[in-house]
Amino acid sequence: MSTLAQFTKRRAAFEAFLVERGAQVLQPTNEWEVLRFKTARGVSVIYRNAKDGLTFTGEAADAWNGLAKGNNWRGVEAVKRPPKVSAYVRALLKRDGDACFYCAQPMSEEDRTVEHLVARSHGGPNHLSNMVLAHRLCNANAGHLSAMEKIRLRESREAA
Ligand SMILES: [Zn+2]
Repeated sequence: MSTLAQFTKRRAAFEAFLVERGAQVLQPTNEWEVLRFKTARGVSVIYRNAKDGLTFTGEAADAWNGLAKGNNWRGVEAVKRPPKVSAYVRALLKRDGDACFYCAQPMSEEDRTVEHLVARSHGGPNHLSNMVLAHRLCNANAGHLSAMEKIRLRESREAA
């Protein structure tokens, strides 16, 4: 991957990169450790061997490549909050209007639920492409159906 000489040349930049991305640079614990650092996920070490070759453990290679290639490696987990349910509802109202997916009748706020066409329990994504709005009761009635059957159910009512 890299030699000790190559690493040493960029060491200061790498340490600054690590700190900037939320990692903590630690003291090496023996002479074979070139660099030891800690992230939210654990400790990573870069070791050197007797021939000054390097071994990268943990996230060290990812981080080192991050410095070289400017990728988005981070030492701390990016805080990823799922959008609030209300944000999905707003987006679905905008996309589909305020009509139940199944019966096409308007929904009151209390009666409006987010239906996953492919159920979460069957691996359906928590994504707008897999979501529609439906009455609480319509949603419950369709609960046992597959995505295909749900769409057929809707179509049968549209045709009626
Ligand atoms: Zn309905």
